[in-house]
Amino acid sequence: MYPSKEVHNQGEFARLLLSWFSRHGRKLPWRKRRDPYAIWVSEIMLQQTRAEVVIPYYERFLKAFPTVQALAQASLDAVLRFWEGLGYYARARNLYHAATEIARRGGRFPSDVRGWRELPGIGPYTAAALAAIVNRQNAIALDANLLRVGARLFGERQVLSAPEVRRRIERRFLELLPPGEAGAFNQALMDLGALVCLPKNPRCQACPVRKFCVARARGLQEEIPVRGARRIRPHREFIVAFIQDVRGRVLLVRQPDRGIWSGMWTLPYVEASSWREARPKLEAVTGGPLRRISGRPSHTTTHTFTHFSATYTAIPVLLMAPARRGRWVRPEQPNLAVPAPHRKLLQAFSCSP
Ligand code: SF4
Repeated sequence: MYPSKEVHNQGEFARLLLSWFSRHGRKLPWRKRRDPYAIWVSEIMLQQTRAEVVIPYYERFLKAFPTVQALAQASLDAVLRFWEGLGYYARARNLYHAATEIARRGGRFPSDVRGWRELPGIGPYTAAALAAIVNRQNAIALDANLLRVGARLFGERQVLSAPEVRRRIERRFLELLPPGEAGAFNQALMDLGALVCLPKNPRCQACPVRKFCVARARGLQEEIPVRGARRIRPHREFIVAFIQDVRGRVLLVRQPDRGIWSGMWTLPYVEASSWREARPKLEAVTGGPLRRISGRPSHTTTHTFTHFSATYTAIPVLLMAPARRGRWVRPEQPNLAVPAPHRKLLQAFSCSP
């Protein structure tokens, strides 16, 4: 009843998929847009972040920076503030630097995968998505979602991290892509993965292409995709100095131009597991001697990054000399781009007596 390995009727596959997409696809704000700028911003925001989280940030961002020229003329600080809470701030910095490059070229956006790859912050997945949606180039944006769908559809039994497996799935999808329909085809596959072909308990009864699916035909939906050994995410500990002046303002320092929070403002912090270990390192950050305030509670928050998880323990301390660097701000309203864990610590101290 089911084809064993091949999708025999390419045209029928695309027709079923695209007609399902036009009826059941997600109504996302960037899908109403045709201008490359708006689509590009959405694809950058969607890196590592779910669509429903992105929507309010996207709408606010496009209101503040409606064109690539407006973005290029803004300050990096202003852009980072609009990104605050979305995380992975390197995306915002790259978007900003790419905007200045595009504005310098008279607002001309790339016309193919290769051109998109030349912009900062654009890897193979995003370049393929943009080339498909903006330029209608025949390309497949192969992220984890599409890999899972492809692995099940084509009955792929190898571990998905292997480059030859990714190439095989990409080639199979390219064979099914109707020329000129790359944008809708990619977005339909993305939605199929997000709404129907779920990581656990795929909804095969609702799947528009179930008659072509090898995994379903063989009852292997739960076994495919085959995953490699899971990596254990390491844990790191940081000690944070909560320093106030007599007016109740808090000292924030600007992070250097490299690193996860480059250009953002944080409480002074260092990697250490105790105050004793942290103090000399923190004194190097603040530029003055520090003394722990006894009797005032510390606050802790945790955060998960892509490659590690972290605990931040903020300790109230006195700076025993005038601050040589940083900026004094109101803790409840710093008016600077502050990453989420440090913002949480500021709030914790604002709420505690
Ligand atoms: Fe995924 Fe099931 Fe559709 Fe196959 S039939 S693609 S396993 S949802």
